[in-house]
Amino acid sequence: MERYDVVVVGGGIVGAATALALTSARPELRVLVVEKEAELARHQTGHNSGVIHTGVYYPPGSAKARFAIEGARRMVEFCREQGLPIQVPGKVIVATEAGELPGLFRLAERGRANGIEVAVLGPEELHEREPHVAGVRALHLPAAAICDFAAVTRRYAELAQRAGAQVWTSAEVVSVRIDSAGVVVGTTRGEVEARVLVGCAGLHGDQVARLAGHPVGHRIVPFRGEYYELLPERRDLVRGLVYPVPDPRFPFLGVHLTRMVDGSVHAGPNAVLALRREGYRWRDASLTDLRELVAFPGFRRMARRHWSMGAREVWRSASKAAFARSVARLVPELAGRDLVPAGSGVRAQAVLPDGTLADDFLITEEEHAVHVLNAPSPAATASLPIGAEIARRVLDRF
Ligand SMILES: Cc1cc2nc3c(=O)[nH]c(=O)nc-3n(C[C@H](O)[C@H](O)[C@H](O)COP(=O)(O)OP(=O)(O)OC[C@H]3O[C@@H](n4cnc5c(N)ncnc54)[C@H](O)[C@@H]3O)c2cc1C
Repeated sequence: MERYDVVVVGGGIVGAATALALTSARPELRVLVVEKEAELARHQTGHNSGVIHTGVYYPPGSAKARFAIEGARRMVEFCREQGLPIQVPGKVIVATEAGELPGLFRLAERGRANGIEVAVLGPEELHEREPHVAGVRALHLPAAAICDFAAVTRRYAELAQRAGAQVWTSAEVVSVRIDSAGVVVGTTRGEVEARVLVGCAGLHGDQVARLAGHPVGHRIVPFRGEYYELLPERRDLVRGLVYPVPDPRFPFLGVHLTRMVDGSVHAGPNAVLALRREGYRWRDASLTDLRELVAFPGFRRMARRHWSMGAREVWRSASKAAFARSVARLVPELAGRDLVPAGSGVRAQAVLPDGTLADDFLITEEEHAVHVLNAPSPAATASLPIGAEIARRVLDRF
């Protein structure tokens, strides 16, 4: 049986960043990344808005705020140093009616408390920046950037491999046995031994932690986010990133317009319950996943609390006209005929037993394992400091 020092489960951006941080700190460590898909970054990391978030949304002092602020700076530097696609188009967060102004001003305060450059724009200044966007006031965040997180992940993995790490793809972790010397990890490509296991399994994070015998109170609930794309001849309606004022009851940012690094403009994502952990379409359903969800009291409590919002999101998913209306609140010239479907991503959202949607990043550890239990947005932005934090916890054991 092959022996490693650390086995990282999951080849998304968090797993790859962890492997890079470990091999950069200690090149002599034998590190293996095990990914069940044929390529890295096939799930959340390869299906997102590609936005390097500045940190304006997150409560000062939270792990999200700390890691996003540092992560955004380091992500921009990393992409530039590595010659990966990166642009800094800036972002506006737009209040489309007076009722949204208190929320907008709270965000401005939060951003400033986090040390982020935020300007409040009146309608004319908003018009100068984004001539087709309508709003009564907006925040402007000049540092908001865009990149390709799948390309970043591949580069993290290449650098880690150059420093000695191994990456197995098409290898699913199916069992974990803890013994006095460490862990025996059963994969579909054979068993390996390691001193420490690091779980970075995204949508399967709770399952991998449970496989390793870690008591997990929460469940990962998959929320699909569907995107449309603007027809090429309508792309110039949007210059940068255009976001609504988010609903503070949910950890999602609301349907926004995002210029991607390839020049396309995406609208989305909404947030509908996926019927499978990797349920990218309505027809992707798993009875096992659904039974597990319904049996979890936290899911039932969440569903009771938020059923009306859930129903609205289902309607917006089923009706292109309803989706187009939410986009037209930001850009009134946009209509359904300007939008074509552009795929979806599924968010891994930890839901606590009391039905709360966990907001912050959550990393736990025990003798032979470190588990990432909640790494929602902006974990891609924050991946370098998250990887460094996981590596620090792992290296304490060597
Ligand atoms: C729609 C959407 C929009 C988003 N927008 C942004 C954004 O603009 N900016 C931002 O910073 N963040 C954004 N995010 C969040 C960001 O994409 C995620 O936080 C980040 O990608 C999480 O990375 P990860 O490595 O934890 O998960 P993943 O990328 O999901 O990787 C987990 C990996 O583990 C593998 N795996 C699971 N189980 C096993 C097993 N048993 N054995 C082996 N491998 C396994 C999976 O195949 C997968 O590749 C968005 C997310 C979504 C879904």
